[in-house]
Amino acid sequence: MTQPIAILGMGQLGWMLSRAGERIGASVQLLDPDAPEQPGPNTLISVESEHWPDNPGTRQLRAHPGWQNPNALDILPNRIQQKTVLDELQLPTAPWCRPKDDDQAKDLHQTLGPDFLLKRARGGYDGRGQLRVKESEATALPNWKTEAIAESAIGFDTEVSLVGARGRDGRCVFYPLTENYHRQGVLTVSLSQPTRFSALQRTAETMLTKLMDHLDYVGLMAMECFLVGDKLLINEIAPRVHNSGHWTQEGATICQFELHLRALLGWPMPQPETRGTTAMVNLLGMEHQREWLAVTGARLYWYNKAHRPGRKMGHINLQHPEPQRIADWLRELPLPADYDESRAWALERLSFEG
Ligand code: AMP
Repeated sequence: MTQPIAILGMGQLGWMLSRAGERIGASVQLLDPDAPEQPGPNTLISVESEHWPDNPGTRQLRAHPGWQNPNALDILPNRIQQKTVLDELQLPTAPWCRPKDDDQAKDLHQTLGPDFLLKRARGGYDGRGQLRVKESEATALPNWKTEAIAESAIGFDTEVSLVGARGRDGRCVFYPLTENYHRQGVLTVSLSQPTRFSALQRTAETMLTKLMDHLDYVGLMAMECFLVGDKLLINEIAPRVHNSGHWTQEGATICQFELHLRALLGWPMPQPETRGTTAMVNLLGMEHQREWLAVTGARLYWYNKAHRPGRKMGHINLQHPEPQRIADWLRELPLPADYDESRAWALERLSFEG
């Protein structure tokens, strides 16, 4: 009998994991993080997010024999611990330090330069729990500075991410590096272009393999990086399926959700093959629009969540062997004006390719 999988979390990532599971015959149950049901002893427990509420139910899950990846999930959700382990492994990140009680902005500018970010050690993501501190603005540091890291602002050329999975036998497979555009710290568009970053692929894979090996990790992990010249600096590691891997639903023979389940179950994990170029557009803070479906290539994933400004409500994948076709669809896609920059960013890259 197939070993059941329980996923802590009932958001879109859990939903897409369970959809992928249904298709390949894996049994996936979603657990409500606020009051999780305790799964049977034979169940493998994974998470849709590394941030979950601390309550008796989640503590009990952490102690369950099927709880997967205790090392990664104890260390990585805390930015201080994440940065420390990356330093120990000599994996390059943005320069950082831990602010001390009596540190003023000027003290940190001395170490980190004229522009740095304070990032809360726990709970902050998608640009939340972050403060940008510029020397020219004489910012007073908030009192949460001692529960944060301070990190130099990087003048990157672009942002890329590597998504890959490690199996129970330690073998890893990866998707090609994805290029990502963020608006105010939140991903708006991802592009997977087959050869754009092939010169960096091996280096990126070696970096993520080193970390996954060290943590004895099983399943899918994402490594977000700044690209500066030809150097990759790790921004953040996510021990889970990742927004910048959503394009794999249309752009690869095995999508990231399926790959995560295969890894957990010890099922075959051949190297996924990609289908040329794919674009993914995040639908942030929008109401459902049936006009998206008038674009023939638009593959819509709608999460059916209550509407909130800025919230991830769904995404659209655009995949075609001809990049120009993707560019045409992207032009046609009805999106609000605050997507103009993200769209122009993607169109420029697609036209370069075509
Ligand atoms: P994070 O929540 O840390 O993943 O950050 C979200 C986004 O904010 C990143 O993808 C970048 O666009 C931007 N960002 C975060 N850290 C830095 C940094 N040290 N330098 C420049 N931009 C950053």
